[in-house]
Amino acid sequence: MITLGIETSCDETGVAVTSGRRVLSSTVTSSVHLHKKYGGVVPEIASRFHVEFIMEVMEAALKASKKRLKNINLVAVTNGPGLVGALLTGISLAKSLSYALDVPVIGVNHVLAHLYSSFLTERNVDFPFVGLVVSGGHTVLFYCEDIDRQCILGQTQDDAVGEAYDKVAKILGLGYPGGPVIEKTAIRSMGKNKIVFPKSYMGKDSLDFSFSGIKTAVLYYVRKMRRLDSGMVSDICRAFQEAALDVLVDKTCLACKMKNVKRILVGGGVAANLRLRHKLSEAAARSGIRVYFPELKYCLDNGAMIGALGEALYNKGRRSNLYLTAEPNLAA
Ligand code: AMP
Ligand code: MG
Repeated sequence: MITLGIETSCDETGVAVTSGRRVLSSTVTSSVHLHKKYGGVVPEIASRFHVEFIMEVMEAALKASKKRLKNINLVAVTNGPGLVGALLTGISLAKSLSYALDVPVIGVNHVLAHLYSSFLTERNVDFPFVGLVVSGGHTVLFYCEDIDRQCILGQTQDDAVGEAYDKVAKILGLGYPGGPVIEKTAIRSMGKNKIVFPKSYMGKDSLDFSFSGIKTAVLYYVRKMRRLDSGMVSDICRAFQEAALDVLVDKTCLACKMKNVKRILVGGGVAANLRLRHKLSEAAARSGIRVYFPELKYCLDNGAMIGALGEALYNKGRRSNLYLTAEPNLAA
């Protein structure tokens, strides 16, 4: 089966051609440069960007896969969660293609697509496992029994971890998006200033998260300083990153212990963070747990993860129809 996967939930316009878990092509373009000066995604700008570029991105994906529209057997599209205007662009294209090509269309949950994005490169991951989705809008721990059977063990009660990275970068004047620049700046830290930010655990056995406190702690720390030199900025980035990642690592390992599983899958934009990869792999290895991360290009939003999950769900009997619409607050 050849599937066209379409992703337009936020600021990335992604189209991919997939077959099972195989990615024949994946094309992504981003409006992130247009949002930089506002310090976050402006929904209307993101929507207009999708409208302007989606056809170009689809044509590039088809060309790279050496397939034509007539070869497509299934259209999979993100139908939530996300920005409503942005989602509607992808959904409109998907439904038009479904109608014109007379092939089925299937709506795919964006958070679950991140969760299973490691499947694009790791072919032999057995269920059950603990899944951690860490992105700009979500921080969720899952227990996964099958590709269509998972439950939420815990999630953030306020900011997502990626959002915390973005807000801390804004406080420090480092620009948007915050994740990559904080990661790079933290590496330069010599640890001269002994800074410790609070880690929020929400209770000893809780698998929920809270990242708004640490962001506020950074804000108060910065306000207290009369002047920030580059060494201080690096030390703040490191202290913030270590505290935020420690909580992710500790809770993910705790979830494995509680559910008695030996596998972890991580997905979402923050899964690109090399420090997270190192810390989680090391902590998990101490308990004999194996961790799977997506390839870097599949951490950020893309059509390949949508195509692959859409096809897997289709094969399990899941169906959508032309009444499919955007569900901005769709739960995982
Ligand atoms: P997504 O919401 O999945 O599109 O991912 C975007 C989020 O991932 C933003 O909040 C980014 O700041 C964050 N992000 C991207 N790369 C990194 C990184 N290397 N380290 C930490 N966060 C990152
Ligand atoms: Mg995303």
